[in-house]
Amino acid sequence: MTSEAMKVLVPIKRVVDYNVKVRVKADHSGVETSGVKMSMNPFDEIALEEAVRLRERGQATEVVAVSIGNADCQSVLRTAMAVGADRAILVQTDEALEPLAVAKLLAAMVAREEPSLVMMGKQAIDDDMNATGQILAAKLGWPQAAFASVVEVSDGRARVTREIDGGHETLSVALPAVVTADLRLNEPRYASMPNIMKARKKPLATVPADELGVDTAPRLSVVEVVEPPVRKAGVVVGSAAELVSKLRNEAKVV
Ligand code: AMP
Repeated sequence: MTSEAMKVLVPIKRVVDYNVKVRVKADHSGVETSGVKMSMNPFDEIALEEAVRLRERGQATEVVAVSIGNADCQSVLRTAMAVGADRAILVQTDEALEPLAVAKLLAAMVAREEPSLVMMGKQAIDDDMNATGQILAAKLGWPQAAFASVVEVSDGRARVTREIDGGHETLSVALPAVVTADLRLNEPRYASMPNIMKARKKPLATVPADELGVDTAPRLSVVEVVEPPVRKAGVVVGSAAELVSKLRNEAKVV
């Protein structure tokens, strides 16, 4: 496949900003998002950076960002365009969607856009599902390479190095394919002020989710969300001898 045909679709989720201390809602139904700073999912920033680099190297011709969610997701799409996406699509819905529903909506967008590569985050940091890319690849019948730390595209294939337990694995997948980004794939750039201004003029289309004819009814329900147990504070010892004494007499294996 030549670069003429190489369109990259980058799904982008709007999530609670990674610097925010997440609070669980009083009714334990989920995490508090009202009045909380929201941003682009960090793994999606990495996926987007990789897609933009492919275009800068002349290996991709177009980078299209797509976000599924309410009208507020326009802000992360504008950021995506400021970083380098050529255009963006908001698949608009007010429903809270599980990965299966997101993957079905993304599959419908893939059918419309016909990208050669879907480059996405390995997981969204809000609910850590780590599922959407894998489900999407299965729905499309496409190869998948998850947890990418190196991506090289040539001759209609992607060579993807994946981080696995105890090492790296390199796969070669035929395009079109789904690749999910791991932390070490790259270091995403910041959007510069001039590019933020330019991004305002880039096209942002809205597609109502209902229009895609997808059954988004939930198959799973969240039973309960709870805070992790509070850890007891540590102690500072005065000397190595005191440390040894504490280890011998007080430390317990839990
Ligand atoms: P998850 O399976 O929920 O951990 O998410 C994995 C990846 O799927 C994310 O990094 C995004 O690239 C994509 N994704 C998940 N939810 C959405 C969404 N609502 N809109 C766009 N992309 C999404």
